[in-house]
Amino acid sequence: MLARGSTIGILGGGQLGRMMAMSAVQLGYRCIGFAPEGDNVAAAVCDAFHTAAWDDSDGVRAFADACDVVTWEFENVPVETARTVPAEKIHPGPLALETAQDRLTEKRFIEGLGGRPAAYARIDSGHDLESAVDRLGAPGILKTRRDGYDGKGQWRIASSRDAQALKLPDVPLIYEGFVEFDAEFSVILVRAQDGEIRFWDSTRNVHEGGILAAAHYPAGSAVEGQVADARVLARKVADALNYVGVLTLEFFATHEGPIFNEMAPRVHNSGHWTIEGAATSQFENHIRAIAGLPLGDTRTVAPGIEMRNIIGREIDGAYAFLASSNSHLHDYGKAEASEGRKMGHITRLSLDTRG
Ligand code: AMP
Repeated sequence: MLARGSTIGILGGGQLGRMMAMSAVQLGYRCIGFAPEGDNVAAAVCDAFHTAAWDDSDGVRAFADACDVVTWEFENVPVETARTVPAEKIHPGPLALETAQDRLTEKRFIEGLGGRPAAYARIDSGHDLESAVDRLGAPGILKTRRDGYDGKGQWRIASSRDAQALKLPDVPLIYEGFVEFDAEFSVILVRAQDGEIRFWDSTRNVHEGGILAAAHYPAGSAVEGQVADARVLARKVADALNYVGVLTLEFFATHEGPIFNEMAPRVHNSGHWTIEGAATSQFENHIRAIAGLPLGDTRTVAPGIEMRNIIGREIDGAYAFLASSNSHLHDYGKAEASEGRKMGHITRLSLDTRG
C-alpha cells in the first residue's frame, strides 16, 4: 500500500490526468506530471510538471526516480517511454499500451479471447483496400492503425469507387466493415493488484463526427441486454494483461450481440459521469488500484444521469448550464477553444425518480 505523502507520476498532461491528479491529491498523495510541451492542463493540479519529449530517456528516468508509482492518462505514450520506468513502478503494465496502440494487434488479441470485432482487413496498399472492399463490402471505415483519436485518422468508404479514388496516407491502415448498430456503449472496470474486478454501470454513448457527445444512464434496453456478455470479454482482457487500474472497452450493440470496437487502457470520457454519479469515481478507483488501496464501491447513485461534452467555443457559455440545480460543470482549463476540442463536460443528475 502506497504510504500517505508518496508521489504518483502521470505520463500525459491532459484533462484525464488533471482529474486523476485531483483524486490523488484528495487521497493524500503528491502528483508529478510528464508530457511534451503543450497545453498541459494537468499541471495546474500537480506539485511539479516535467516537460520533455517522450523519447528523452534521461528525462523519463529522472521523472520515474522522483515517483513512487507511475501511471498514464494518454494511450499514445510510446511503449518505449513506459518501459523506461522500472516495471515494478508502473501500473498498468506497458503490455496494455502495446496491445491497444495498434488496431490490428488489438483486434487479434480480442479474437484470441473469444471477442468479436467488426470484420476487418489489414491495408498496406491501394490494392489491399480494393480487395478488402470487394470482400467485406462497403460502406466501411478506413482507419490508421496507430495514433487515431476522436475520429481523426478515419475515412468513410461508401463504395469501391471511393476506395479507388482515395490517395492512401503512407502509414499502416485497417479497413473495417460498417457495423449497423442499435447503440454504442462502453464497459469500464477497475482491477486491483490482487485481481479483484469491479464494473461501473454502462452508459449509452452518443458520438457526433467521431467524437463522444454524450453518455446516458440508464443505457436503455438495446444496451442493457448486452452488458453481461461484454463484461465477460472485458474481464478476460483485464486478466490476460494482469491489468491494474481502470480499463475501458467500447462496443456496438447489434442484434447479433455486442461487437467490440476498441479498448482504452485508461480512464475514459464515457466514465466522467462517475465523478458525481457513482459511489466512487473512475479517477479515484484508478488511483486506489495503482496505490494498492482497497477499491471503492462502483454503484450508480442517481436514477438518471447525462454527461455531455463541451466542445470548442461552447465553453464560453458553460456557466449557464449551472442554472439547472443538479448540473456539475468540469472546465478543463484549456487555453484555446479550437473547433472539435474537448474543453469540459457537464454532468446532470436526475434525482427524482418520478421525473
Ligand atoms: P473509433 O475511434 O474507432 O472508436 O471510432 C469513433 C466512432 O466512429 C465510433 O464510436 C463509431 O461511432 C464510429 N465507428 C467507428 N468504427 C465503426 C464501424 N466499423 N462501424 C460503424 N461505426 C463506426
